[in-house]
This record gives sequence, structure tokens and C-alpha cells, in this order.
Amino acid sequence: MDKFELQRLRDLPIEGVAERLGLQVKKHKALCPFHDDHHASLSFKVSRNTFRCFVCGASGGTIDLTMKVLGKDFREACRWLADEHNVILTEHQPPASNLQPQIQFDASRYERFFERPWLNNEARRFLFDERRLDGRVVRWCRLTSWRDRQGVNWLQIPYYNKEGRLVGIQNRNLGSEKGKVKSEELTPRFKFPRGSQCGIYNLPVLNLLHEGDDLYITEGCSDCWAMLSAGHKAIAIPSATLLKPKDVELLSALASSPQREVGRGLTFHMFPDRDEPGERLFLQLQQVLPNLTHHQLPLGCKDFGEYYLRTRQTEMPP
Ligand SMILES: [Zn+2]
Repeated sequence: MDKFELQRLRDLPIEGVAERLGLQVKKHKALCPFHDDHHASLSFKVSRNTFRCFVCGASGGTIDLTMKVLGKDFREACRWLADEHNVILTEHQPPASNLQPQIQFDASRYERFFERPWLNNEARRFLFDERRLDGRVVRWCRLTSWRDRQGVNWLQIPYYNKEGRLVGIQNRNLGSEKGKVKSEELTPRFKFPRGSQCGIYNLPVLNLLHEGDDLYITEGCSDCWAMLSAGHKAIAIPSATLLKPKDVELLSALASSPQREVGRGLTFHMFPDRDEPGERLFLQLQQVLPNLTHHQLPLGCKDFGEYYLRTRQTEMPP
């Protein structure tokens, strides 16, 4: 991990990180998890992206907070932050230069993997047994799989722009056969090839929209697959805590696109995750998508993926 990547973890909004860690943040304050607190002594300084407890003295930034709350070491805390907020960490060293040049994603190296997607047993188990996704959705998304030299299985998730050009790849760790890989805890949950641009997911679906259609917005691609499998047209925001200006721009263009264009008369829908970042994402998106409709997930379902599984189970014959 290089200093640019570390900085991105440090720049994650501290209050959003605190909420993902289970703290309840109100008016830039929370109950301090590091001492027996009854008065919300922990306060957040948003301008400096730090926290401090005025009783026990605990203080620091996003990485310190994660280390302390989860009892992880520095590396583990960085990995948790990256996974939880979908921050792209490359395994590669940056070029030896003070100026960080724009790293280009080399689509030609990867395109062929998605021409004939192939799913190994681990991927089939994950997609069809565990997530109960529709095979047509898996084919539409061109999901494929591979196994690395250490024996770890990866689901390979291509990101396309609206024109169908490959712009990025997200690799999701599916684990390995039990006992085969010793350092399993050390392999990250997600990996991205150099230069991957994993912004809004499933943009090619925009070409299938008709006037007056409903478009669902989910958080993360697995909820998007569940939404598509439930028969809805859907796109996914990569991370609730990290809504990028570029993604916001794309959505607002979609909402205000002129006649004849995609987006005319669309209604936007969302089942926000049942947590603070989920609700905040909804409010942020509502500012650019004024007709965004809020759907409440039932109690006990933290995201749409869980809700989808529950509905699938009740539909199954006994
Ligand atoms: Zn404290």
C-alpha cells in the first residue's frame, strides 16, 4: 500500500467510518466506545477528519478509530477500511515519481476473459446457491471466475461504461478449498487491476430503458444482481460513504436528460441499507434525483440482497 492509498483511507469521512463501525453519530458527537460513557464525550472534527474523547483522551483519524474499535493492527484496519468503503488498493508499487501520473486501465489485457465467461464451482456456489441469482443476470453481467496460484478463487466482475467499453474490473475473493491456503485471512476481499475505474455499476442497462421506466439504485454490485434477479432494472453506487462527484454528475445528467434521450420520465427507486450511511446516501441522491422513491427494507434485512433471499426462500416449495 503506498502513501496515496493510505491518504485515501485517511480521507474517508470520519463520521461515516464511525457509523460503519457501529457508533451512533449525532451532531458530530457519539458515545465513546473506549470508556464507560453516558454523555457522548467523543466528538468529531469534520474539518480535520479526526475524533477525540474529552474524558479518556482517545483521539486520531479514520485508521486509528478502526484499529481501536475493532482491535485490529494497522494493516488489518487499512484492509477493513478499504473493503468496507470499496477503496481501490493496488498491489503494485506506484511509479517512482512525485507526480502521480494517470494510470491507464489496459482493457485489451482483460476483455477476452469476458467474451466467454466461465464459472468454477466456487463461483457457481456463491452466485446460485448462496445468492440465488438468476442465470440470465449472471450472463448479462458477464461474471467470470479464476483461481490464483495460491489456490484462492476469485469472481471477476467487469465494469462497463454506457457504450459497453470495459473500464474496470473488481475481483471478489471467494475463498479457497478448506485448509489449502494458509494465509487466507491475509488475502483481501477485493482486488482491482491497475487503473480500474469502478464507478457506477451496470451502466449498459441504461440503453434498455424506455420512457417512464423504473430504475433502481443499489449500494454495491451484489445488491444490484439481486435487484436484477428480482426483475428490476438497476445500477449500483460503489460505496455509500464515498459518493464520487463524477458518479453524481452522471446521475444528475440522467435525471435531467432532454427529450429523446435515455432518462426521459424515469422514476428512480432505492431500498437504502438499514444503517446511517445507507440513509445518508439516499438523502444525497435525492438532491440530484428529485423523484427518487424511498422503499423501506423490512426489519432484520440489512440490505436488498438479504431481502431478496428471504423472498426467494418463501417462494420455494416446502
Ligand atoms: Zn472516551
